[in-house]
Formats: sequence, C-alpha cells, structure tokens
Amino acid sequence: MSFAEIIGQEDAKSLLKNAIKTGNHSHAYIFSGEKGSGKMMLAEAFAMMLQCENPSDDACLECHSCKQALSHNHPDIIYVSREEGKSNIGVDVVREQIINDVDIKPYSSKYKIYIVDEAERMNPQAQNAILKTIEEPPEYAIIILLSANHNAFLQTILSRCVLIQMKSVDSESIKRLLQTKYEIVDYQTEMVATFAQGNIGKAIALATDSRFNDVKSQVLSLCKRAGKMDEGQIADEVKSIKEENDKDKKEDEAEKFQGFMDQFLDLITLWFRDVLLYKATLKDELLLFKEDSYDIHEQAQLCSYLGLNQIVDAITDTRAKLNANVNFELTIMLLIQAIKENTR
Ligand SMILES: [Zn+2]
Repeated sequence: MSFAEIIGQEDAKSLLKNAIKTGNHSHAYIFSGEKGSGKMMLAEAFAMMLQCENPSDDACLECHSCKQALSHNHPDIIYVSREEGKSNIGVDVVREQIINDVDIKPYSSKYKIYIVDEAERMNPQAQNAILKTIEEPPEYAIIILLSANHNAFLQTILSRCVLIQMKSVDSESIKRLLQTKYEIVDYQTEMVATFAQGNIGKAIALATDSRFNDVKSQVLSLCKRAGKMDEGQIADEVKSIKEENDKDKKEDEAEKFQGFMDQFLDLITLWFRDVLLYKATLKDELLLFKEDSYDIHEQAQLCSYLGLNQIVDAITDTRAKLNANVNFELTIMLLIQAIKENTR
C-alpha cells in the first residue's frame, strides 16, 4: 500500500515523506499505536517509497522494487516477528534475523529495511541485543519497530528511535472508506465507524465480519426484553451467551479482531448510550440504533438517569469480573439482572 492509499495519519505521512525527500531519514523508528491503527500499512508505504527506483511524492508502484514490495517479495524489506506459539520475541530471533543479517549489504536496493511486528514483545535481552545495531547501524540499514505499547521499550531504545504515534482516524473518513471500498450500506457505516472509534483496522474487520451482525441482534434482543424476563428466561439467555463465548474461545486468536464478549459488552454500552442520549435530548439524529428508535424511546421513559448509571456500572463490573475469571454464568446473570431492574 502506498502513502496515498492510507487514510488519515497526515502528520506521520508528511514527516516520513519529507525524511525520504531530504535524505534525512533516521535509522530507527518506533511506530506506536493500538492493534488495527495501521502501523504495518504505514511501515510498508515508508519502506516501499524508500526503496522505489523513481520516487516522487510517493512510491511509483511501477518499478521492479515497488512490485516486489507490493507482493511482499522484496529481498531488502525484511519482516521480523515472533515465532509461532511463543509470546515473546527472544534474543535468538533478533540475533538470527537482524544482528547477523544486517552486515550483509542490500541485495538489490539502496536500503535494507527491517520491519519488526509486535516489537514490544522483545524481551529485555532481545532489546539489549538490538541496541547496538540501533546505535551504530550500517549506513543502509533502517529498523522500524511496530508496537502497541512503546512504554514496554527500554529507555535506551526509546531515546534512539524516532517515535511516530498513530492517530485515530475521523469517522467521516472511515465511513467513506466503508462505503466506497467495502460497499457497506449507509446506516451500517455509522454504527461501525462509531464502534471502531477511529481504528481503521477494527472498522474494516467489523464491516467484513458476519458475526458482528449476529452479536448485534443478540444484544438488541436482550436489551429490549430484559425488563420482562423471568428467572427461566434469564437462565436461557445466560446459557446462550455462554455457548457463543465458548465457541469464540475455540477460534484462532489471530483470525479475529475482537473477542465475542468484548463486542457483546461494547454493544450493550452503545445501546444504553443511545437511551441516555435520547432521554437527554429527545432527538433521534444522533442515535446509532436508528432503526430501533421505537424501543429507544420506550426505554428512555422507563429508565431513570440513576438506573442508566447503574447499568453502565454493571457493565464495567462485568468486564472486571470476566478479566479476573470470576464464574462466567454468575457474572452474566448479575449483568442481565441489573439491566432488568433498571429497564422496567
Ligand atoms: Zn517504484
């Protein structure tokens, strides 16, 4: 992907492009931002333009080097990541893939570029090992560390890298992208863009994830019915949520952007955000669940401000308990009861 195709990140793009045009690029960068914020896309655009045979304001996309970069077959753009099944990037990986490799001159291009994914997972030994390369790199070497949490780096690493912080993308741009590139209908783009909170990767994952709509239906049905549920119906609901959660646990972590329960709780939060918004303004324009405005109006009448607060507290409490591995069924039952108490 070229710089031109990246949505948002204007400051970072112009800083990196200028560094290339003036020849003032650094030998070490940290691109920092949460999962889905576009770090890898930015690193790839940067690497492609650095290596391009005819760069102007961006990579040309036509030359041999650009074509190799686009197909991820560029011999001088090297991807480093943790070994499968390991949670850390150990010193052996860093030695083998970077330190022992960096003294070999580039194969066909001006630079040799290392893109280290999840670099915050380098353990302290690995970070110490890479430090010397970052301090005294060969002229042609550029190391880009991608990280969801740059505070995990040793101070010595941080002080020698140019830090690029990924920004959240405005929701209008996300909506435009979803409409044009993913052909998502208008009212859904609003929901997805809000849910993604400026995270482009999350927006794309949600827009293309069929499960999101299923979770949404389940949440809507729960929020609308909770006030009238009896004990037996609550138990059935808990069981069905447990089943979805168990199914989710079996799926490959790398394949999904967000776990079932996170999506589930986020959607409940958004529903009651709508109820609160309508209660306070009596206007529909700002609602996310516009198609369900009838139920929103009804709940806005049934719920007091205090009750809405209690629901929000119950959701926060649920997240904390699930993180602490408190009994799943019990936790969910208490949540549903809190919703029931405050929506009838
Ligand atoms: Zn090119």
